[in-house]
Amino acid sequence: MESLASVHDRQYLQVNAGQAVWGHPHVIERILDRFLTQFFLKELTERKSDGHCPLEKIFEAYKKRPLSMGLRIKYFLPILFIDLLRRLACAQRNFIVQEVFGYPPRTRALVNTARSIGTYGLSRPQIFFSPLMVVWNFTQACNLKCKHCYQNAGKTLPDELTLREQLEVVEQLVDLDGAILALSGGEPLISPNLLPVVRKAHEGGMYVTIATNGTLLTKEMAKKLVDHGVEYVEISLDSVNPEKHNSFRGVDCWARVVEGIKSAVAEEKLKVGIATTITRMNIGELEDLIDLAKELGVKCFNAFNFIPTGRGKEIIEQDISPEEREEMLQILWRHLQEEKIEIMSTAPQLGRACLMYSVPQGVFATGHAGQGAGEGARTIAKYVGGCGAGRCYCAIEPNGIVTPCVYIPLPMGDLRKEKLIDIWQGSELCRVLRNRGYLAHHCGFCDYRDYCGGCRARAYGYFGDLTEADPGCIHNREKWERLKGGQHEDPFDPAWFRSGVGVSAHRLGGTPGVGDGRVISSGKRA
Ligand code: SF4
Ligand code: SF4
Repeated sequence: MESLASVHDRQYLQVNAGQAVWGHPHVIERILDRFLTQFFLKELTERKSDGHCPLEKIFEAYKKRPLSMGLRIKYFLPILFIDLLRRLACAQRNFIVQEVFGYPPRTRALVNTARSIGTYGLSRPQIFFSPLMVVWNFTQACNLKCKHCYQNAGKTLPDELTLREQLEVVEQLVDLDGAILALSGGEPLISPNLLPVVRKAHEGGMYVTIATNGTLLTKEMAKKLVDHGVEYVEISLDSVNPEKHNSFRGVDCWARVVEGIKSAVAEEKLKVGIATTITRMNIGELEDLIDLAKELGVKCFNAFNFIPTGRGKEIIEQDISPEEREEMLQILWRHLQEEKIEIMSTAPQLGRACLMYSVPQGVFATGHAGQGAGEGARTIAKYVGGCGAGRCYCAIEPNGIVTPCVYIPLPMGDLRKEKLIDIWQGSELCRVLRNRGYLAHHCGFCDYRDYCGGCRARAYGYFGDLTEADPGCIHNREKWERLKGGQHEDPFDPAWFRSGVGVSAHRLGGTPGVGDGRVISSGKRA
């Protein structure tokens, strides 16, 4: 029988023919866009001497039933305001109390978002006061030799952060209302420091996740991870075919990885995902990979974009074409609508594909905020969707160097010398990444720019310019064709100027780190 999603897909693709699902601004957007709202959000999210801000206390008071007369008088207006927003979002009080105010990572994300709107206003994309999510390449050590490894992992670096330094970094993340800490590598399970760091982040109220190659994920290890506070573990699997996976990973490990997935799935409190970097080698088996994930009882499938960085540069011919990526997006979109397994992707174009193909009540990918259905999710996607590098997310290298994304090898600062908040707020790289008006080619004027913005790591990997087009998108097909033909844009070519591609340097005007006028060679402040 044809699945509902494919009927839906066929009909909607024909009817919609690539038109975006636009709507009027949601009433919550209008409220948040007011000066007065922003003034109060700023006031309510300012930390007091006890380390807490008034908004956290209001959330606590909201959870209490019955509310004492004193608290009722003290927080009368804020509680009325929360109730108004809750009704406008069509959310039940119980849901807000248990799933939002009763779950620390969501409360922290809300406080961080409120502080960001109070400080910078409501902006598209939303600029964040401090990173909502951090991916930490915890160690350079790895027991595999994967061909596409962005980190070029192998041996431990001589200057990796010590446990004391790592715990100090966690303290900073907790103080900054970071909501998600994703520990990656190398292979994080190799590090003896992993579990104490996990525990501290979890106790601080963060959602802690681990990205692993799965080979060391025994039942005992899965239990230890849960006991220390890991809520989600994501395991890399490149193929349903053991030989293909092993050849990509450089070691005979497919069976061990599948065992690792089963061990993790057996831990009830652990959410498990499979991550696959989509290349020409495995794009034909995307459906099979998702089926295998479902068979194994995995809750989430994450399709990683290929990025030509680290060892990935050596297999650049494995990158898929814009048309193949569009097919990948359509498959992912279909599974998103079916909702039998959670679908995520590091391809920011998934946000665009959802708008193009979904009916207004459909499921939308909202980037770092996950997925959801209908107008609410679409509205969230408008502000937090697409590429989050240097805007709501950043990465930390094993030695404490901060970069905008694990795939962008440009330093923003060094945690051994500076506080994360100073690096985040002072970085010129971030200033560029937070303004999609700088983007070149179709990414610069795309109807879907707010929801996508293109992968800035792919732009940098291919052109050495963070503001360039993402050549993996069907709207930038011309760029892909030129790359394939070995052509490089000539900034003095009038056709190139006419297409608007060459203006990024002028738009950036005087940004330190803009090397030869096009290439951002370093993110270090002058
Ligand atoms: S650059 Fe942006 S879209 Fe690309 S992987 Fe990093 S965060 Fe994701
Ligand atoms: S042109 Fe750029 S912003 Fe638009 S959908 Fe494609 S990658 Fe995203």
